[in-house]
Amino acid sequence: MRRLIATAVATLLLVGGAVVGSAPATAAPAADVVTTVAAPAPQKVNVPLLKKRVAALAASAEKVPVYTKVERQQVRALVSKARAAIRAKQHSKAERIVTKARAIEKDRRATEKALAAKTRKAKSYDRHMIPLKYLTKVQPASVNAKHRTKITVCKAVYLRPDAAAAYQAMDRQFFEATGRHLRLDCGFRNVAQQRYLAVHHIGYAYWPWTDKKHYGSEHGLGTAMDVKGAASASSVQYRWLKKNAKRFGFVQTLTYENWHWVFKGTR
Ligand SMILES: [Zn+2]
Repeated sequence: MRRLIATAVATLLLVGGAVVGSAPATAAPAADVVTTVAAPAPQKVNVPLLKKRVAALAASAEKVPVYTKVERQQVRALVSKARAAIRAKQHSKAERIVTKARAIEKDRRATEKALAAKTRKAKSYDRHMIPLKYLTKVQPASVNAKHRTKITVCKAVYLRPDAAAAYQAMDRQFFEATGRHLRLDCGFRNVAQQRYLAVHHIGYAYWPWTDKKHYGSEHGLGTAMDVKGAASASSVQYRWLKKNAKRFGFVQTLTYENWHWVFKGTR
């Protein structure tokens, strides 16, 4: 008899680590122990929390800056899918969709945060003095035929990170509308580049003032860009920009320069 009890206790000990402490003392039948260990309670979907998350996603998708439009469209689509699943009482499906949308939203927020940090850094420098590492290269080296001399002005086009992101979003839209890209002649200019233009292109470029006392070029801030082919008011580029640039935060600040567009922000 003693041996039999000992065997039963040993069996209980083998069944699962979690019940080792309590099972031998109460000497519960082995079958009960097995049931407790093998069948954990099924995970219930927290429907009120799910609905709250869908509402939060829908709200944040409306607040994002225009340059994260792709992510906004993805989140919007997932929100309507999640809502449909909730209406159909398919809560587990809705939960999977919400998890996916939240991951996209998390990535987008991280990208936006990094972009804002880099932009703040660029803004902390004087005009024409921003190191290239705090700017974003939006176009590889291209030489403007007009300025093709010993010094290459605007070899590659750099913009302040927020302006660059807005430009890229705008260029995507322009490409969808026209099948062409918005090519740029110039973005940020350092002191040497600005001085060269001020000397060789009198009337079109400010002296490279770096102090706040003088009004200087917006190219020194990395917010201005010169759009290729936009000089004529009847050009495809100019007409499109006139109609759409504002949505992306770009405005024409010099009425006599149709190619010069400056990023002023989207919020
Ligand atoms: Zn310009």
